[in-house]
Amino acid sequence: MVKKGKRMYSDRRENNGITEGCNFKCKYCAFEALQKRFGVTEEDRAYTPHTHIERVNKKPKFTSGDQFITIGLNGDISFASDEVIRLIIGYCVQWSDRTFLLQSKNPARFIETDEIGTPKFYFPSNVILACTLETNYSLIPSASVKGEYIPYNTISKAPDPALRAEAMVKIRDNRKIVTIEPILLFNLDVMLRWIKEISPEFIYIGYNSNIKLKLPEPSLSETTELIKSLKGNGFEVREKLIRKAFYE
Ligand code: SF4
Repeated sequence: MVKKGKRMYSDRRENNGITEGCNFKCKYCAFEALQKRFGVTEEDRAYTPHTHIERVNKKPKFTSGDQFITIGLNGDISFASDEVIRLIIGYCVQWSDRTFLLQSKNPARFIETDEIGTPKFYFPSNVILACTLETNYSLIPSASVKGEYIPYNTISKAPDPALRAEAMVKIRDNRKIVTIEPILLFNLDVMLRWIKEISPEFIYIGYNSNIKLKLPEPSLSETTELIKSLKGNGFEVREKLIRKAFYE
């Protein structure tokens, strides 16, 4: 079973780059490479977190059904200031008949509070909050060398996946989804427990499109088993690039 890769999200109508850039330095980041090549401004090409505030004036495309508009897909929105995040929320409120998706590898940012415990941000019902959980390991077993481990922080400087899962569980009043992409080795029981606790509307799953990176990815049968288990537990799974691991 090998499925052809779709674009980043097949349900996405467009991206509004109000925020761009990221400091998480994921080894597999395709956005950084694209921005380095096609970025318009120096900041775009440097890929450091920055904003294009004027883009809040852009009329978003219509969305219907499962469709959504991403904001800040070329980067991670968690690097934006509180003020900018509130501006983005205002934009989503202004276009309340559209659906927006905000994705971060630091979802704790979505639920930050001020010094007296008041939430900093209130996301409206037309916003889906998304988080990537490529693995549940901090130390990922090497896919090719038995007994060797790869620290997650050599693959990405984003918060540890366990911390992300914890934050996603705490998000209770918003629409939310999880993306397991690019899928890395995982423990089935732990991954299933996390997803059950998070209870996302749906889950995207897919391998990295660049097989040459040789990420510590699971075998095709392990991924198939995860998909089957998630579906068996009543979750909607949206499959993206499903292929054999680089070592198969
Ligand atoms: S978090 Fe996303 S945007 Fe940032 S480096 Fe990783 S893949 Fe790229």
